[in-house]
Amino acid sequence: MRVAIGIDLGGGSVRSAVVREDGEVLRMLTAPTPRNGRDVVLNEIRKQVQSLNAEWETSIVGLGAPGMISNSGFLHGHAVNIPGWGEFDIAAELSALVQSPCFVRNDAAMAAVGESRFGAGRGSDPVALIAVGTGIGAGVVVRGKPLSGSYGAAGEIGHVSIDPHGRLCRCGRHGCIEAYCSATGMIERAHELARRDAGGLDGPLRRELLQAGESGVEAERIYRGVAEADALAMLVHQEASKALAHAVAMLVACVGAEVVVLGGGVMNAAEFILPAVEQPLRALLPPELYQRTQVRSGQLGAQAGVIGAAVAALDSVAHAVGAAEK
Ligand SMILES: [Zn+2]
Repeated sequence: MRVAIGIDLGGGSVRSAVVREDGEVLRMLTAPTPRNGRDVVLNEIRKQVQSLNAEWETSIVGLGAPGMISNSGFLHGHAVNIPGWGEFDIAAELSALVQSPCFVRNDAAMAAVGESRFGAGRGSDPVALIAVGTGIGAGVVVRGKPLSGSYGAAGEIGHVSIDPHGRLCRCGRHGCIEAYCSATGMIERAHELARRDAGGLDGPLRRELLQAGESGVEAERIYRGVAEADALAMLVHQEASKALAHAVAMLVACVGAEVVVLGGGVMNAAEFILPAVEQPLRALLPPELYQRTQVRSGQLGAQAGVIGAAVAALDSVAHAVGAAEK
């Protein structure tokens, strides 16, 4: 059975794995994403690939990375979560560095391929995935293939504004989806609310946030607050779920997704998030769409991205061979 290396580059970590074409992960490496420029990031990837290739013989590398990445593997624009990550030919530079062909696409698109092939979206078409992590990304898979758009904009919903008068986003604009339901957005929003008059929001989370200062609290802490019905946690959670419902509605209406998978680290709190998204979603979509839409939690967890990147890379070779034979 064929194997490939799949890599998932996120704002928080770089993961690489040797993946079999049936989706089995044989070995996975993880390291924190370097914060000091793209060359250092590429070098970390090279190290991981070399280390995996020392044990397994692979012939292609698949990479899912943040940002708008075209079908040729060129990154258009900049990804805000990785310093220095912008405007370059990732596929060409990485191929030269690891001395192997590289298939490069957006990270959420690769996770969507993983979940549609082996996880929560199996048997459905099209499948959309929203990656709820440090930022918000989305990927769409149509007939088994990831959709990119001519310059990689397909699924770039994180900085679509749902409220032009809403809270300020890191990108400098107001009311972006990411400003409410990414881990970063939720933590910032929780701090913002904690600093205001206590109102009805005082409780253990507010006191902890005021003590912690600007950092030191993670999204998981907010969901622990939700479990305890902490007022501030509940408000952040409700706003986040509403923004997430907007994201789901967009994908359903635009690509006719049968299944929308919610993945990413924040979905560890799926038991709270899934029911909270349903209510606003029902209000956003016409009933005939709402009834046909399934919102599911991802099944592959942190491995969705590496699995998707590896099998999409293997597919690209198969397609190239198929095309050459014709
Ligand atoms: Zn934004």
